[in-house]
Amino acid sequence: MRYVSTRGGMPPQPFTSILIEGLAPDGGLVVPERYPKFTAEELARLRASSYRELAFAILSRYIDDIEPADLKAIITRTYTAAAFGSEDITPLKTLEPGLHLLRLANGPTLAFKDIALQLLGNLFEHVLAKDGAKLNILGATSGDTGSSAEYALRGKRGISVFMLSPRGRMSAFQTAQMYALADPNIFNLAIEGVFDDCQDIVKKIAADAAFKRRYRLGAVNSINWARVAAQIVYYFKGYFAATRSEGEEVAFAVPSGNFGNILAGHVAREMGLPIRRLILATNENDVLDEFFRTGCYRARGAAEVVATSSPSMDISRASNFERFVFDLAGRDPAVVRALWQKLDREGGFDVAGTPLADKLRASGFVSSRSKHADRIATIRSVSEKYGVIVDPHTADGIKVGLSYRESNLPLICLETALPVKFAATIREALGKEPERPEAYRGLEALPQRCAMLPVDAGAVEAYIAEHACA
Ligand SMILES: *Cc1c(COP(=O)(O)O)cnc(C)c1O
Repeated sequence: MRYVSTRGGMPPQPFTSILIEGLAPDGGLVVPERYPKFTAEELARLRASSYRELAFAILSRYIDDIEPADLKAIITRTYTAAAFGSEDITPLKTLEPGLHLLRLANGPTLAFKDIALQLLGNLFEHVLAKDGAKLNILGATSGDTGSSAEYALRGKRGISVFMLSPRGRMSAFQTAQMYALADPNIFNLAIEGVFDDCQDIVKKIAADAAFKRRYRLGAVNSINWARVAAQIVYYFKGYFAATRSEGEEVAFAVPSGNFGNILAGHVAREMGLPIRRLILATNENDVLDEFFRTGCYRARGAAEVVATSSPSMDISRASNFERFVFDLAGRDPAVVRALWQKLDREGGFDVAGTPLADKLRASGFVSSRSKHADRIATIRSVSEKYGVIVDPHTADGIKVGLSYRESNLPLICLETALPVKFAATIREALGKEPERPEAYRGLEALPQRCAMLPVDAGAVEAYIAEHACA
């Protein structure tokens, strides 16, 4: 399998060459040259597989320049009951006949991002051990990504992590998850600004080619293709758990921000999984809902992004979205180039009235948005009806998923975080504290450690230069 750019300007590369960078040199995103397909017979044979077997069957189609035995060992080391709470890794909870919750948030940091990042950490370690190189990971987080990346890379040989976070803007639980890590290869940089300031610093440093090369900077952000690939697996797992035979179709409801999670669902469908509907849920930051309803994609300015009670979906533009548009455009890079030029120049584009509009209607995507009051009402009703407490992001997905529910079509709602990460919203909805897994008792009382830095890329570069893994 080779990887190309959505904008056509990159010679085909093998997987290990695109592993630490999702961005192509021409400004596009890297994508596989084609999607491998599973026939109905192959699907039937996969049905009884364990999570690890399924992960190998799928990932070995995308990763063919790591020895199969090594890839198998990496997968076996990553997806354990010890790390994810059960042998199922992503167990399916049936709320009522035809309505399910696919539990993706039982990894080390209690958010679905662990499923991809735990694998990424082990892939990095393997590839670096082979070429004896070192890697410095630079990232920015508003909460879930940072802790998930740090737990995936803590203690890894040859890798250091520099994670920027907005000082005082994350929940107490999220802050403690990151700042209480004592591993010497993890560096938390608390920036005296907001998340967009952190992201701007990362972008500035990533554009400093000399600095980037000198310190071998890599990224683990949501445009990393390996993250998308790892997420494909649980769509298959969820499908098999909710159905009995390959003739059946299902719908998935996905709370979306940067379009990474639901893109994996789209790819699963392209690979032959019988998904009739992908139901996309946004919160008040509805750039994606607007696109799927009207065909108009209008990126928001940082000032237009509102802080909501499902904060991991508070985005101004959806960084993975270009990969979906590439497929919509029949994988023609010229179309993507033209649309993204327009986006850069005019802040948006509209596919209404173009051939893409018909393809969009036929794509199987539907969308809607969920607001704070919807989230609170959904947390309450799911708790009352099914005795299950869901986090605010999952609630957005359920709210929108139910609005598109069809009879005789199983609806699988993705659980993207556990409620304990967002206790204030749970207290507002239910008047009580969310349950806290044993391993996280007393987390906020542990000693914390971070470096405080101003909104200044130069200061961050100086810090990296002093502490980088070399
Ligand atoms: C990151 C995140 C999302 C959004 O996922 P995308 O892949 O960015 O669409 C939703 N819910 C939670 C809890 C998250 O951490």
